[in-house]
Amino acid sequence: MNINVHRSAKLRRLFGILLITVLVSAWAQEENVDPRKGRVTASPTSGNRYSLEQEIQLGRQAADEIERKLTLLPADHPMSRYIASLGNKLVESAPGFKFPYTFKVVEEKSVNAFALPGGPIYIHTGLIQAATESELAGVMGHEIAHVVMRHSTRQSSRQMRAQLPLAILGGVLGTGVGGLAGSLGQMGVSFASGTVFMKYSRDAETEADKVGAQIMYDAGYDPLAIVSFFTKLKEQPDNNRMPQFLSSHPDPGNRAKEITRILSRFPPKQFSQSDSAEFLAAQKALTNTKGGEVKTEASTLHRLALPDIVTSDFKSFQHEGYTIQYPANWRFDGDSVSTVMIYPEGGFSDGTLAYGVMISGFQPTTPASKELDAAMKELMADIEETNPDLRPNGSPQVFKLGSLSARRLDWTGKSAVEEKGEPLKERVRLIALLRKSAVVLYVVFVAPEPDFDGLWPTFEHMLNSLQVR
Ligand code: ZN
Repeated sequence: MNINVHRSAKLRRLFGILLITVLVSAWAQEENVDPRKGRVTASPTSGNRYSLEQEIQLGRQAADEIERKLTLLPADHPMSRYIASLGNKLVESAPGFKFPYTFKVVEEKSVNAFALPGGPIYIHTGLIQAATESELAGVMGHEIAHVVMRHSTRQSSRQMRAQLPLAILGGVLGTGVGGLAGSLGQMGVSFASGTVFMKYSRDAETEADKVGAQIMYDAGYDPLAIVSFFTKLKEQPDNNRMPQFLSSHPDPGNRAKEITRILSRFPPKQFSQSDSAEFLAAQKALTNTKGGEVKTEASTLHRLALPDIVTSDFKSFQHEGYTIQYPANWRFDGDSVSTVMIYPEGGFSDGTLAYGVMISGFQPTTPASKELDAAMKELMADIEETNPDLRPNGSPQVFKLGSLSARRLDWTGKSAVEEKGEPLKERVRLIALLRKSAVVLYVVFVAPEPDFDGLWPTFEHMLNSLQVR
């Protein structure tokens, strides 16, 4: 299933869900916008609990952490040099505080790019290979805009205000901010399986689009290129594998219209539509690296034999928000404050969960009384939006798990596991629980349809062992 994970590609999908509604105040009311010219002139400071220095420090620590897990293209590779020079050129046109930006290329076939607080920006080779030069500049301008507008620390500051009793998930952290991991979690940054996931709200996306367009305009690249890039990604034939960039940068809707509107404030300008010689040379060098392919080995997901993965031997995991038992021979991905994935060997690859379980948390936007139903609606909408193949089997069922009120819903979709060249059907079962603190904990069970019932006793053992704190 496609899960919007902070953690990985297919998982990516679901993770998107969780993440937090960030409320960035309306563009027009921002004190950092010059009202006469409609331009952003400063980085927003109000409502942010982090100083600029703290933000930069946090980003540096996160970069150290992340770079240990990622494979970076060498800094002297022609594409690394090209990306750094394009980044620096765009940064010259970036408004607001002059953050210490860095631009690095991640050797990773998935289509993604992300920015850390305070300036480190990473572009996947998969994205570079999928983009024209203007589109690449558009993505980078957009990422720079997330830095300029301080979206991650503003998001985090909001969550601190909300004083959540505890962290369930990458994004919803406890009041005691637990060091780097805690702070990053609050910002919506998380990493695992060699992938970084940074999820923004739609409001933050709109703001990044606008500021990104301003940067592009000033730097001399067509600001509408980002629109064509998003369209291109959406139209990819295999929508079972939604590009990570689409998951981590949710479509705020009418992206093109908003960008056109901001551009109407600026004098008309012509932009080159063709790729520069430098860009083409760097692309060629990238293609020549590793025999033309950068990490494009086929998915390793295949049908698993149940006797190999089912066991009566369980281990226990303690999260800040719950404890759960899981099969002792399964793999575990996550930590005590973040979203957790548990899967048998071979059940998860390149961000796609074919067999396994994801546990995460969710802070519903609606108040007290109807949280769980409202949360189910939000979860369903997000899951279905990012997994267009999924069809719900009926509507959510109400039940009790121990003493907790719970909801359950099954979907049928397309598995990443193929047999005879055809994807198997997939079953996805979502269980959502309301904790006392009004944080929704949810568990997603995934398996190919023909294996789901056989795995259910294992899944059910896990579910029944779940002790929510
Ligand atoms: Zn974005």
